[in-house]
Amino acid sequence: MNPHTWNETVWQRLLQLRGKLPHALLLHGRAGIGKLALAEQLAQLVLCENPQADGHEACGACPSCHWLRQGSHPDFLKLQPAALDENDPDAELAERKSPAAGQHISVAQVRELTRFVQLSAHRGGLRIALIHPAETMNAVAANALLKTLEEPPPNILLILVSHQSSRLLPTILSRCHQIRFTLPGTDAAQSWLIQQGVREAAVCLAQAGGAPLLASQLADADYQARRRGFLSGLVKMNSADTLRIAEHHAKQPLPDMVHWLQLWVHDLVSLHLAGRVFYQVDYQQELRGMAGRANLFGLLDFQRRLQAARASVQHPLATQMVLEDLLLEYAGLFE
Ligand SMILES: [Zn+2]
Repeated sequence: MNPHTWNETVWQRLLQLRGKLPHALLLHGRAGIGKLALAEQLAQLVLCENPQADGHEACGACPSCHWLRQGSHPDFLKLQPAALDENDPDAELAERKSPAAGQHISVAQVRELTRFVQLSAHRGGLRIALIHPAETMNAVAANALLKTLEEPPPNILLILVSHQSSRLLPTILSRCHQIRFTLPGTDAAQSWLIQQGVREAAVCLAQAGGAPLLASQLADADYQARRRGFLSGLVKMNSADTLRIAEHHAKQPLPDMVHWLQLWVHDLVSLHLAGRVFYQVDYQQELRGMAGRANLFGLLDFQRRLQAARASVQHPLATQMVLEDLLLEYAGLFE
């Protein structure tokens, strides 16, 4: 059994591929739904020296399973950006944790992979390289990988995991066997979150756009307190407040605040267009009270402005200034 029941169908498809595995797999779909966990489960099963009789589960006890757990398997290589925390279940919050450094898989890392795939397997089976998330390879790194994909050495399995496969080179896409992951149903996602001890499962799941692993990370009490502190300020803000509020939040990570503002404005727009709130469901009432006071086209303009801000929020020194500008524009939408 895989740990995320909603991925059982995908897991069965992967099991069917066993015995005739392609040299490259691409597991793609939204961030925070368990692609990485399944990729690692597949790697463990393929490398396991004593799998269960039905061939569907690794033993968890052989040297191979042991090394993989320790992160020291000689036939397994994982490439990911330096900023990704090993403990993140699906590691989509890296941007929040470390906005500047180590966001990419470098060409040096891909060269390490090239050397790795040329060696013969220590344990006589396959060698497996996992690339996560594949879209963080820069152009040079992606081209270096392409050489391995074009002429793969025997007994190699490359597993690419991607949250945004549209950002991958078409030449990479065409050389991978693609497996798409879909968003789980709300009920399955919520029951899983409740099992994980998440108290406000529905609220966190909505903020995560339905992705349960992301939702479980967002459930962090400190994160939610900071978020509520910020959102409450948006409810009754006018132009005269913006300096004070920007000062008050100047020490918070700007990417978080721009992100919250984006979801907030998205909800205001969707109230205009569809009459419902998608993300900040614990602020339904406040959002409904405000939506009618803002002009739809003004909101859409501001949405584009936030997208641009999102792309350039890496400079921590300018937090207060950038935030004040954004809040001033935001307050103007309701006046
Ligand atoms: Zn094993």
